[in-house]
Amino acid sequence: MIKIPKFIKIGGRQVPVKRLASSDCGGHGGSFSAWTGVIKIANDPDYPQDEIEVTLIHEILECLNARYEYNLSHPTIMSLAENLYQTLKDWGTNEIT
Ligand SMILES: [Zn+2]
Repeated sequence: MIKIPKFIKIGGRQVPVKRLASSDCGGHGGSFSAWTGVIKIANDPDYPQDEIEVTLIHEILECLNARYEYNLSHPTIMSLAENLYQTLKDWGTNEIT
């Protein structure tokens, strides 16, 4: 399980992570506002933990895409989030001994 932090640092700046109802996240599982610099993650009781975790990674990528003008398409962000999530989720389960 990936812990959801209260804030993360991106490029040396703090990015607050707020847990709110999906209706306050633009009707989605999460959102990032380049204007406010805030990541919102839905905290609806029926929102699964694995979706919460991949959404955080997705919004981190949205933040990077906005701040550094990578011009990543949304399908690319979706794919990167899912694949990074899988890598991070398995991290530590296959340690070299
Ligand atoms: Zn997105």
